[in-house]
Amino acid sequence: MDRKVRVRFAPSPTGGLHLGGVRTALFNYLFAKKNNGTFVLRVEDTDQNRFVAGAEEYIVDCLNWCGIMPDESPGNPGAYGPYRQSERKPSYRKFAEQLIGDGYAYYAFDTPEELDAKRKEISNFQYGQATRMQMRNSLTLTISEVEDLLAAKTPHVIRIKVPEDEIVHFNDLIRGDVSFETSLVDDKVLLKADGMPTYHLAVVVDDKAMEISHAFRGEEWLPSAPVHILLWKYLGWETDMPQWAHLPLILKPDGHGKLSKRDGDRLGFPVYAMNWTDPKTGDITKGFKEMGFMPDAFINMLALLGWNDGTDQELFSLLELEDKFSIERISKAGAKFDFEKAKWYNHEWIKQSTADTLQQLVSTELHKASIEAGDVQFLKTIIDLIKDRCTLLPDFVAQSSYFFAPPAEYDINSVKPKWTAEKAAFFNDYADKLRLVDAVSEEAAFKALAEEKGFKPGELMLPFRIILVGGKFGPGVFDIAVLLGVAETKARIEKAVMLFNS
Ligand code: GLU
Repeated sequence: MDRKVRVRFAPSPTGGLHLGGVRTALFNYLFAKKNNGTFVLRVEDTDQNRFVAGAEEYIVDCLNWCGIMPDESPGNPGAYGPYRQSERKPSYRKFAEQLIGDGYAYYAFDTPEELDAKRKEISNFQYGQATRMQMRNSLTLTISEVEDLLAAKTPHVIRIKVPEDEIVHFNDLIRGDVSFETSLVDDKVLLKADGMPTYHLAVVVDDKAMEISHAFRGEEWLPSAPVHILLWKYLGWETDMPQWAHLPLILKPDGHGKLSKRDGDRLGFPVYAMNWTDPKTGDITKGFKEMGFMPDAFINMLALLGWNDGTDQELFSLLELEDKFSIERISKAGAKFDFEKAKWYNHEWIKQSTADTLQQLVSTELHKASIEAGDVQFLKTIIDLIKDRCTLLPDFVAQSSYFFAPPAEYDINSVKPKWTAEKAAFFNDYADKLRLVDAVSEEAAFKALAEEKGFKPGELMLPFRIILVGGKFGPGVFDIAVLLGVAETKARIEKAVMLFNS
């Protein structure tokens, strides 16, 4: 019988959620959806030193914003709890001790000072097969010495005993056969002095307990894979091991290496999904959401960082991704992050979204700028008129504020040099004749009047735009006038003509 598909996103609650983390969550989610599986959120909070209050809630908020909700999570547990690693603490020690009993792990009593001294003595010191017999551990001490130390509650850790000269193999769903020489793998700590497991033990015990069938995670975890594979084997669970898929790195736009938050700070773009407020310093790091990205665009952009459907198609809804996602089309090579391309996705998503979809998002942006949109139909008409000009959601404010109040400033320099008393007379006359039934007939009436007064209509279009909008931007000027209505258009003409005359 085929195994039930259960995947997990297993972040550590240590701060802002990097876009690479969201992509890992997304690929797990898509694989689950595609295979009628279950997407689990497991919070890996065993490192007490790195734990940050509020980070778990924040991660959940980010996933909600992206629309990739876990089927099981700390807040919505299923039958495989607990979903916070720290709550599973009592169960880890017995597995670590089982490994000791079977000769696959050992107690290590080295003090921090002893370890420091060794690091000074041996450059690039690694606690492992080359050095373990020089250290204070249950491999070098007698049984009774070890018993005494344990009875005296001497602080100690438990380390895996990595075998000598073996090759550890596994089949990665993206990379194919991957192998490691154990001579290069150190004896990782499995259980810390505080009784908490390290990530290495916890990830294996939890994946087993939660019946995880496939694990998509970032390529940065590949070097840890041999330790995990050995643990699956040593704990006697080999047949239950998930299938691994190590996702390609998301790379810096310039240079080499993994995209970091510092790159975002340096180059002026967000790296976190949503704003993250450091609870200690109060510092806010900007997120894609607050920068004005639509969640659909953000998800679409992330999906294409390392995956494509084999065609040139670049725009995918989440539903389409759920349908089309396939491991075979995930690339092995790292994907360079390109903020201009991210903005392109957002622009395309804004253009293809209906006014109904955008209305709430735009109202929120306007509200932030102290503009109350008022009538919903009016707002939707505006959205349809200007959305092609908006790349990020806050652009809707700059592109629409003149619909809600007359311009606060005018680009006078673009009008003044060619302004004449005749033009002023034309606009005053035109103001009296406004009908504004629809843009097409209004444009015809404007042009007819211009010609009758001896103008080329083109000479009057720019002043008219600046009268209504304040600057050289915006959709069709007659569309704007029709939406503003007769009274408002007239008032704007009168006000600006006086200004241009003065
Ligand atoms: N807790 C690890 C992280 O923070 C999870 C790695 C894994 O998925 O195995 O990314």
